[in-house]
Amino acid sequence: MINKVRYSYLPQQFEDADDLWNNLKEFVKTGDFTLGKPLLEFEEKFAELMDVKYAIGVNSGTDAIKLALKAKGVGVGDEVITAANTFVATVGAICELGAVPVFIDCDDTFCMNVDLMEDKINEKTKAILPVHFTGYMTDMRKVMPLGDKYKIPIIEDACQSILGEIEGKKAGSWGDAGAFSLHPLKNLNVWSDGGLITTNDDQLNKDLRLLRNHGLVDRDTIGVMGYNSRLDTFQAVVGNWLIPQTKDIANKRISNAKFYDENLSVIPGIKIPPRPVDYKIVYHLYIVFAEDRDGLLQYCQDHGIEAKVHYPVPIYRQEGLKHLGYKLGDFPVSDEHAQKIISFPCDQHLSNEEMKYVIKTVEEYYKK
Ligand SMILES: *Cc1c(COP(=O)(O)O)cnc(C)c1O
Repeated sequence: MINKVRYSYLPQQFEDADDLWNNLKEFVKTGDFTLGKPLLEFEEKFAELMDVKYAIGVNSGTDAIKLALKAKGVGVGDEVITAANTFVATVGAICELGAVPVFIDCDDTFCMNVDLMEDKINEKTKAILPVHFTGYMTDMRKVMPLGDKYKIPIIEDACQSILGEIEGKKAGSWGDAGAFSLHPLKNLNVWSDGGLITTNDDQLNKDLRLLRNHGLVDRDTIGVMGYNSRLDTFQAVVGNWLIPQTKDIANKRISNAKFYDENLSVIPGIKIPPRPVDYKIVYHLYIVFAEDRDGLLQYCQDHGIEAKVHYPVPIYRQEGLKHLGYKLGDFPVSDEHAQKIISFPCDQHLSNEEMKYVIKTVEEYYKK
């Protein structure tokens, strides 16, 4: 009998990794720590996985967004359109540049409702930053024409959607650039912070390689003022070990989500979000809508299930963004979600017994 369904699977993920430890030992002997060969290998493999020409390693997903925006000319006072219900890092990257986030409400796919976007575009808009939240994708089929029409660069925050797709085209391969995170909690993760930027643009690739490394053209020449934001080569060794598993990780999450969907959808009180057939959703988070959500959350936690809410207070209403002047009710769908959403563990290490226990516990709650 299982009495605990944990959220974090990290202790399991690297349990059986003797070959990785060997790779790390061999790597340490080379001393090739800064922009080393394993990093270049990892960048190539990642670009291939994502169907893009280039991937540029940086030190976090946040910096992936920030450097991409910066390279496209976003600076102080410029407006960047993004989602009202994202993780703080999306908005943090905008604010770090002195730019102003302009929020758009989401729909039931947890991504921005693209039909609301055109109204927010004005002469100050310098980038569009769709967030492919929870493993869904923003409907890029509608975002791309707006970028073209108004000549505004598009940077995708794909941190939660590695291998997500619409009509077979991958997250991070639609816009000018895509931002990915290798944070331990992400679907493809390393042992510390890390991130990557994807692009098909030759010039952007060159500019980003400069920006991440102090703007150094060579040891003695500073072409532009940049950042110290290299992806650690040590972490790239970890990335090289894990990257062959990325497709299996996504597929396992997809099959887990299918199992949950089938069994949870028949429970009165639970509503499954839309699953459009032309989307490949990779379930960084598995979220459903629940009646009496707080009661269910408590009941699950009391029964040893680490269910969570992503997030109880949407970013646009956080204390840290008070200066933007938004208030409760400005983004009604995000607000409604905050009351109804619940996340269950859905990762590649979750067992069928654990999922059955989650389903049984949810059933029990609504029978009470
Ligand atoms: C994780 C995440 C980021 C940033 O990633 P870090 O690597 O932690 O800096 C950005 N956006 C979203 C939506 C994320 O989930």
